[in-house]
Amino acid sequence: MSTLAITDGHVLRPDHTVEQADILIDQAAGTILEIGPNLEGDDQLDASNAVVTPGFVNAHTHIAMTLLRGYADDKALDRWLQEDIWPTEAALEPADIRVGAELGILEAIKGGTTAIADMYFEIGETAAVVEQAGIRARLGHGVISVGKDHEAAREDAIAGLEVAEQYDGAADGRISTAFMPHSLTTVDAEYYEEFVPEARDRGLPVHFHANETVGEVEPIVEDHGVRPLEYAADLGLLEPEDFLAHGVHLDSTEIDLLAETGASVIHCPASNMKLASGMAPIQQLLDAGVTVGLGTDGAASNNDLSMLDEARDAAMIGKLAADDASAVSADAVVEMMTRGSAAAIGLESGRLEAGAPADLAVIDLEKPHLTPAHDLISHLAYAAAASDVRHTVCDGQVLMKNREVLTLDEQEILERARTNAASLIERAEG
Ligand SMILES: [Zn+2]
Repeated sequence: MSTLAITDGHVLRPDHTVEQADILIDQAAGTILEIGPNLEGDDQLDASNAVVTPGFVNAHTHIAMTLLRGYADDKALDRWLQEDIWPTEAALEPADIRVGAELGILEAIKGGTTAIADMYFEIGETAAVVEQAGIRARLGHGVISVGKDHEAAREDAIAGLEVAEQYDGAADGRISTAFMPHSLTTVDAEYYEEFVPEARDRGLPVHFHANETVGEVEPIVEDHGVRPLEYAADLGLLEPEDFLAHGVHLDSTEIDLLAETGASVIHCPASNMKLASGMAPIQQLLDAGVTVGLGTDGAASNNDLSMLDEARDAAMIGKLAADDASAVSADAVVEMMTRGSAAAIGLESGRLEAGAPADLAVIDLEKPHLTPAHDLISHLAYAAAASDVRHTVCDGQVLMKNREVLTLDEQEILERARTNAASLIERAEG
């Protein structure tokens, strides 16, 4: 058995106390053996003057969209998708998805993220990068029926089921999958009715976008006479393992429905602010007992993949939404980006204790903006940045040591990302 000791850090425990301790990891099993004083491993990682947190879980993203970062900004969701994003995505080739995923996962590891839930296309490309990079992922093919004839729409849904089956358990179990119909308005009811039962037969959770903008809620109310999440429940969605992205425009009956069913909400505050989609009622969801995770959404609507930024955004907009400075506290957002996100997407990680997966980030406190350190939870929520992450460990393996990513070639990825992004835009606009 080879062991790794994370030494001398301020360890964030599941009850949000912070303890000066070492962490001993069984690298073959990928789990934490012990947390306590004076632990020695075959290898050591220095965590002195640093806080050791569970690895962050980015529970909703489109990781390969990094190639579109900064390509189109300052537009509402509808126009942004139709005028800029969808036409460019139509020109994407598998090699672009590969390098986009490499760039996104490189950025994720450098920001302490150890797991993602990703909805996109060409899932095999992303799966290969996840395998090489060493993170965990729940992957799915984004199914869309609008704008397609019946046969093409069915084929897309079938592809969604097939890739979910193909990649579930890949990368030594670090990859899991889900059936991912894009949203309640971009996939027609008949495809939910036909394919959600098939997803259930295969044991797949369902992940979709819902209630992101007012413009998404109104057509459902007009066409079906019910709120979107009642419509979703009628279509067989909202099982306890299901998780929906956004949930910005929810009424109290929908919040109750989420609490009753056990389905989770992934909050994407930066995307919601940037696209002026609205303010999600996060404190109300938490008060109702709904599991809330945190996600960056794609890099084109954020525009980075930093979970520490996202936590700060979540706390800020949560207070505004509730008109209450005590709402969506530092504790709440730290929980959201670790255990909340992990639970929402069905992972065991998000907690530092014996027996838990060895997924963690070490965050350097030797920084002007993190001095003094009255309260480390406060620092994680409000002051720490992705660039403060010193080491990232997932499944017991060191993915980044002293800011150097060991599993991906950073320089090469940056060069290829620039080249592929330029040629993608040329093809799309050509
Ligand atoms: Zn999204």
